[in-house]
Amino acid sequence: MAEAQPHYQNYIGGAWVDAADGRTSENRDPATGKVIGLFPHSGPADVDRAVAAARAALDGWRLTPAPKRGEILYRVGHLLTERKEAIARLMTREMGKVLVEARGDVQEGIDMAYYMAGEGRRLFGAVVPSELRDKAALGVREPLGVIACITPWNFPLAIPSWKTMAALIAGNTVVLKPATATPLSALKLVEVFADAGLPPGVLNLVCGTGSDVGMPLVQHPDVAGISFTGSNDVGRQVNVAAAQDLKRVTLELGGKNAIIVMDDADLELALDGILWSAFGTTGQRCTACSRLIVQRGIRATLEERLLARVAQLRLGHGLDPDTDVGPLINQAQRERVHGYMAVAQADGATIACGGAAATAGALAQGSFYQPTVLTGVRPTMRVAQEEIFGPVLSVIEVATLEEAIAVNNGTRYGLSSAIFTRDINAAQTAMRDLDTGIVYVNAGTIGAEIQLPFGGTRGTGNGHREAGMGALEFFTEWKAIYIDYSGRLQRAQIDC
Ligand code: NAD
Repeated sequence: MAEAQPHYQNYIGGAWVDAADGRTSENRDPATGKVIGLFPHSGPADVDRAVAAARAALDGWRLTPAPKRGEILYRVGHLLTERKEAIARLMTREMGKVLVEARGDVQEGIDMAYYMAGEGRRLFGAVVPSELRDKAALGVREPLGVIACITPWNFPLAIPSWKTMAALIAGNTVVLKPATATPLSALKLVEVFADAGLPPGVLNLVCGTGSDVGMPLVQHPDVAGISFTGSNDVGRQVNVAAAQDLKRVTLELGGKNAIIVMDDADLELALDGILWSAFGTTGQRCTACSRLIVQRGIRATLEERLLARVAQLRLGHGLDPDTDVGPLINQAQRERVHGYMAVAQADGATIACGGAAATAGALAQGSFYQPTVLTGVRPTMRVAQEEIFGPVLSVIEVATLEEAIAVNNGTRYGLSSAIFTRDINAAQTAMRDLDTGIVYVNAGTIGAEIQLPFGGTRGTGNGHREAGMGALEFFTEWKAIYIDYSGRLQRAQIDC
C-alpha cells in the first residue's frame, strides 16, 4: 500500500485550514524527486479569508505596546533555536541546500527575531524643536496595516523571517505567501509564531501559486503594502499592479554579482571566496557570484587553480555530510541553466568544466548540474549579463582596477560585489565606486548579516532595504504631531 503523504494546511485567523475548495499540490525533494507532502493549492477565496483575518486583528495588534510585541518575538527566537536542527533538515529535503547552509538559513531567522524584538523597545521616532514657544513637535512611526509578504524559494525561512518580523514589530498584521516550491519551511516558521503566543489573525499563511494567491494578494483592496522578493520579471508585474492603488511596495530582485581579483590578492583566500560564493547553494543565492573579474597578470594562474578546486566539489543530497553542492530547485531550472551553455558557446565563450546535467548514480533521481566555469567571457555576452541562478561562473579578464569596476557596474543589476586585494588604495576606491548595495573586501559576495541594510541598486530593486533599522522605514508610516500648550492660536510661519 502507498505510504500516506503528510498533509499540510494554511494558517488563517489562528486556525489550520484547508484551501476553500480543498485542492492540494505536491511538494518534492529536488535531490530525489520524492514527494514530501501535500500543501493547499489556494485561490482568491483563501486570500480573502486571510486578509479579512489580518484586518480584524489589526487594531488589537497595533495597540499592543511594541515592547510586548517584542516579547513574542523573543519567544520566537528561543523556539526557533530549539527547533533549528529539525527545521534545517526539513528545509534541505524541500529545497536541496546542504545542511550547514540550511542551518544558516534558520539562524538568520533567529538573528532577525532577536534583532526585531529589541526594536520593540526602540522604534525610534523624532522629537524636534518647534519654531513657536510653548509648542512641541514630534514624529512617530505607525504601522501601515495589512502587509502581504511574497517570498522566493531560495531562502525558505530566512526571507519570510526578515519580512514578517519587521512588519510585525512595527504593528502591522501579515499575510505570508511562500514560494510554491518551499511552503514547508514557511509553515514551520508560522507554527513557531503560533506556539510563541502570537494572537490569532496577526500572521496568516496562504500557500499557492503566484497567479492564484500572489497577484490576488497584491490587488486586494485591504492590503496596504507588499514586501516582495523574487525575480525581476515578477517584481515588475507586482509593481505595476500595486501602482494602480498607490500601494507601497518593496522589491528585492535579481543579481549578477561579481568578485574582482587583483594581481596582488591572496589567491588561496580568493579561491575560497570564489568557490563558496559561486557554488554555495548551487549558485541559487541572489548574491551568488556569477562573474569572476580577474586582473590580467594572475588570470591564467587563478583559472588553473580554480578548475582544480571545482573538480573536487562533491555533488549529492544535502543531508549527506560529504556533499558540497546540492541539486537545483527543479528540472525546469536545470533546463534553463543548461540552455545558457549553447548561448555561451554561440557568443564565443569556452566551457572549461561542467556544462552538463550531473546524472551519475543516485544523482539521476534529482535535478543536479555540474559546477561549470566559462572562460574567455566578454562583459557584454549574455552569460555575463543575465541572471542564470545556477552553478555557473563566467571568467572575465581585465587590465586595471578602473576596468574591473566598470565591468562590475555594467549590468542591469546592483546587489553584491567583492574585491580581493592587499592594496588599501584599491580597496577604498572599490568601496566608493562599486555600484552595488553590498560590497565585500577580501570576502566573497555572500554572507550578509541581518543588522545592516540588505538590498541593491538599479534593477535589483526599487530603492528600499530589508533588514537592519532600514526595514522599519518600509513597514511604518510617519505621523507628525504638534502639541500647542500656549493656550492661544499660534500660526506657524506667521507668528514666529
Ligand atoms: P519568482 O519571481 O518566480 O517568485 C517569487 C514569489 O513570487 C513566489 O512566491 C511566487 O509564487 C510569487 N509570484 C510568481 N508570480 C507572481 C505574480 N504574478 N504575482 C505575485 N506573485 C507572484 O522568484 P523565485 O524563482 O522564487 O526566486 C528566485 C529569484 O529571487 C531570483 O531572481 C533571485 O535573485 C531573487 N532573490 C532576490 C533576493 C534579494 O534580496 N534581492 C533574495 C532572494 C532571491
